Amino acid sequence: MADGPSFNAPPPAEGRTAPPVIVRAGERLAVSCLFCRHFVWMAPPEIAELAKRLGDDFATPDLPRRLKCSKCGSRRVDVRRSHAG
Ligand SMILES: [Zn+2]
Repeated sequence: MADGPSFNAPPPAEGRTAPPVIVRAGERLAVSCLFCRHFVWMAPPEIAELAKRLGDDFATPDLPRRLKCSKCGSRRVDVRRSHAG
């Protein structure tokens, strides 16, 4: 059993824009600030909060535009999905 989160980002198709990735229940999001390297896990309850604000089907590629680093205020945020468990 691996302990520690595994990152799971689908490879983008060559020469195309990757389709929007929808966050599903039970997944976590790894959110990191590219500016100050502040890093947080967004657990399902926090993702649910976000879904309330953004709508049920929100795509991870949209998130960096909607999130802001709570530490330095930078909008240069990287978001990755991870399957829980
Ligand atoms: Zn920051």
